[in-house]
Amino acid sequence: MTIQKTQAIVIKRSPLRESSYLVTLYTKDFGKIRAVSKGIRSAQSGRSSHFELFNWLEILFYEKKRSDTFLLTESSVVDSFPRIRKDIECVGWASYLLELVDAAAELHEPNEELFQILADTLSHLGLYDSELLVRAFETKLLHSMGYLPDFERCSACNGSLTKAFFVFHDGSLVCERCRKGIGRGRPISQGAVKALRFILSHPLHKAWQLKDKGSVLSETSSLLRYLASMKYERRFKTLHFLGEIVTPEKGKKSFKAPNQ
Ligand SMILES: [Zn+2]
Repeated sequence: MTIQKTQAIVIKRSPLRESSYLVTLYTKDFGKIRAVSKGIRSAQSGRSSHFELFNWLEILFYEKKRSDTFLLTESSVVDSFPRIRKDIECVGWASYLLELVDAAAELHEPNEELFQILADTLSHLGLYDSELLVRAFETKLLHSMGYLPDFERCSACNGSLTKAFFVFHDGSLVCERCRKGIGRGRPISQGAVKALRFILSHPLHKAWQLKDKGSVLSETSSLLRYLASMKYERRFKTLHFLGEIVTPEKGKKSFKAPNQ
């Protein structure tokens, strides 16, 4: 059996028997993995705290025969993100990131870009507008999975999107002329389209430089959440928690998906 070494972020943890944990990790080199860490819940081990949610670790593990659950042999903490843990709103956002990554990623499908986006977002959470940073995270995650529509060209005629309309059943964007042809499509503001283009072409933490943050945030939020829910066929339970602790700004434009 080969021992593997990689970096990982803890996205789920549950107790297993008396002294072990079953953890779900998003790793830099192996994608999402499940692993057992034996004997670390004892007071003597000193490693129990390593597997707190959203800790960034360096791990050694080996694969078990005829099992997709690996065995962790060593771990060390790269970053435990104390800034996030001090702020309940940041904890809520971080939990939502983990839930989204868990839903988006299949086991054992490496995506180093996704690991980097998650690590970057956790590293910047709490430094400035957390909601804006999370919108940038959602945009980049959906893009890295190939789930975002083209924000430059109409999906039907390939013409430029001077005015963009969102088609709910397939998550694409069409121009005004094609929208008349298909008889459906909800308008999206140019501000929201520009914001999403800006996020895709800049490093994640540059999102705070966006102009008109307030007016586009709610619209892009609803659009991205709709796309994420559509692609992953689930609602995200952390969003209900966040809805209770984050007060929306007054006057934000909302983008409501139809009931279908
Ligand atoms: Zn068109």
